[in-house]
Amino acid sequence: VLYGAVDQTRWAEGFPACGGQKQSPIDIQRQNVRHNPDLLEPVLTGYAAQKGNFVMNNNGYTVLINLPPSMVITRGLPGQYTAIQMHLHWGGMQMESSGAEHTLDGIRYIAELHLVHYNSDKYSSFQEAKDKPDGLAVLAFFFVNGHFENTYYRDFINNLAKVKYAGQSMNISSLDLRSMLPENLNHFFRYQGSLTVPPCYESVLWTVFDTPITLSHNQIKKLETTLMNNNTMWDYYRMVQPLNDRVVESSFVPRLRKGSMYRKPAQARWDFHSVFGIQNLQVTKSKEKKIELVWCHIKRLLCKT
Ligand SMILES: [Zn+2]
Repeated sequence: VLYGAVDQTRWAEGFPACGGQKQSPIDIQRQNVRHNPDLLEPVLTGYAAQKGNFVMNNNGYTVLINLPPSMVITRGLPGQYTAIQMHLHWGGMQMESSGAEHTLDGIRYIAELHLVHYNSDKYSSFQEAKDKPDGLAVLAFFFVNGHFENTYYRDFINNLAKVKYAGQSMNISSLDLRSMLPENLNHFFRYQGSLTVPPCYESVLWTVFDTPITLSHNQIKKLETTLMNNNTMWDYYRMVQPLNDRVVESSFVPRLRKGSMYRKPAQARWDFHSVFGIQNLQVTKSKEKKIELVWCHIKRLLCKT
């Protein structure tokens, strides 16, 4: 599969679905989303820390971790969806260039995590589900650049070096996927779309979360520079596709700001750190929460919880 801008426009020659009307990714425009208060927060069952044997693999386009069938989205989607794999999209070709697939008001985040699931209520396997209109569900998360190491990504980032070259794989003996995700899963966008790689089947119910995951600058750099195929592996993301007659729904009312529509999500928290001169602090989830609470106290307007 070739990822150049011109190459991408030719995907449909070999894979007709890539030229369809419900393709992914898309640009999510906050002012055009429809708030749907009936959208329920996805409940992720079996995502907590666990021992096992998880294969992590460099497939030449991304790093992919096979997920066990014990990970299931048990609520928040039309039926139960069983996890099959996770992988990322990132940039890095030019310094500081971003590589998320979905964009938000035209802004591309640094990277994007995809958790791929299939509808296990209706289908017996991913293979059977992958080309069905109600076959798949992908949870998507954006990454932002923070000042502190995200300790929940330490193993994952360190393991990248062990699958440096395309075709290499390794076994991971423990995985704490829930901690690798934002605490708040309440705020998300939902729309019907497709796989973002050929064969581009229009079989994916997308959930794109508004709350991003924070990695340190150093962690992002490692993500962008460690993996190789023939060259450094970067910028394997698909251009945004036309929305056509689809509507993007949101579980919340997106706040629109005057001037810039772009919300810098982690700003408040890191400002707090820099104001008080705390540097090189390893932020654990509990510390993060405390800092957030203090900050909320100072600036009540920002927080609802
Ligand atoms: Zn993907």
